[in-house]
Amino acid sequence: HASAAVLEDLVKKAAAAGAATAQPAPDVIAMAAYQADGGYATAQRVARGELGHDAVLQALDHGGLRGLGGAGFPTGRKWRIVRDFVRALAERHAQQPVAPLPGWPITPSGAAPGAFGVLAINIDEGEPGTFKDRYYLERDPHRFLEGALITAQVVGCQAIYIYLRDEYPECHAILRRAIADLQAAAPALDLPVPPIELRRGAGAYICGEESAMIESVEGQRGEPRLRPPYIAEIGLFGRPTLEHNMETLHWLRDILTRGPDWFAGHGRHGRKGLRSFSVSGRVREPGVKLAPAGITLRELIDEHCGGMAEGHQLYAYLPGGASGGIFPASLADVPLDFDTLQPHGGFIGSAAVIVLSDQDRARDAALSMMRFFADESCGQCTPCRVGTAKAALLMESPQWDNVTLEDLNTVMADASICGLGQAAPNPVRSVQRYFAHEVGGAQEQGA
Ligand code: SF4
Repeated sequence: HASAAVLEDLVKKAAAAGAATAQPAPDVIAMAAYQADGGYATAQRVARGELGHDAVLQALDHGGLRGLGGAGFPTGRKWRIVRDFVRALAERHAQQPVAPLPGWPITPSGAAPGAFGVLAINIDEGEPGTFKDRYYLERDPHRFLEGALITAQVVGCQAIYIYLRDEYPECHAILRRAIADLQAAAPALDLPVPPIELRRGAGAYICGEESAMIESVEGQRGEPRLRPPYIAEIGLFGRPTLEHNMETLHWLRDILTRGPDWFAGHGRHGRKGLRSFSVSGRVREPGVKLAPAGITLRELIDEHCGGMAEGHQLYAYLPGGASGGIFPASLADVPLDFDTLQPHGGFIGSAAVIVLSDQDRARDAALSMMRFFADESCGQCTPCRVGTAKAALLMESPQWDNVTLEDLNTVMADASICGLGQAAPNPVRSVQRYFAHEVGGAQEQGA
């Protein structure tokens, strides 16, 4: 059996190198090539009013685009909520402009915008096993920038902040270049490009949580905020804020040019759309796999990953990184998508699929994840700060004290401020439910 440390190392290596090991070094699609292929034409059509804002929203609804950072909230609905708050703020300030955003002006024209709405793009990508955003950013950065321009126009955002994890230095250089090229080309394209500020994340997992990210951008400690108010109403610098994962914006151009049916038509087993799975672990070909929403793990491994690695039999899998639970091989035929995994005690999140084999143990993976949570807890609330550390200690025992662990699980799930503490019990409960034989108990029938 692999020890927890070995397993941790396996996941880290696969996550860091996943895409790169499976595919050759990518060529970045630069501004000229992107434009030659019709790039920014959709943003121009929106700017000229040829493609109306309502038509864009309807396409998002029809295509079934959902937040691909993990929450899966319907994109069109989110846009409408923030747009309404932006309009309300603008009306309140009709006679009196709002103060400029701190840190501005940074625009080439030197203007200091008094923005009513802000678009905040999350490329913190800290979920263990997730590397899809990096994959797209390294190849096609303009596609999501065009998505950002379209979003800003439709929702009414007059400033864009991009939060990129500092562990991606190559992506930082690619993105800086892409933003500069876009700003330089904007007058010739007759395209309204709001000020764009690129911020670096400093390696805290919790800064991937939307309100912690906003605190970090504002220059505070990255600690999640209590809600309400939600950031859609009072977010970055007090403005209504639309926060999106980068990949969500990546798909906008395709949905609007190829049509929502193109995107929605890719689903399988009754699901709609495409998902980018970051697959790591004991498969022959790890990497980012673009596959239909609702594909099962077995189909994903067989059709996209070249099968299991030599000498390994499927034993278990993590469908959604650290927080999405651990499932046994007997659940390899469950469709992988938002909402499909809850009945089994997990969720897909950002679609980071980690595959374990007969040479691994689920308890090692669970312990690894709990140590990760204890390490990454921001410490703001006691259930999470103390609960994760205590749970990790208890999980080191060959035979688990399930009564005490369940006490901790309940307190963490019910009383933590944010998703980190609330989801921390998931790996523990998965082991108790499906792999009880590993920790001195009886497992669920059929698992
Ligand atoms: Fe911080 Fe954990 Fe509380 Fe979230 S649940 S606010 S990470 S201590």
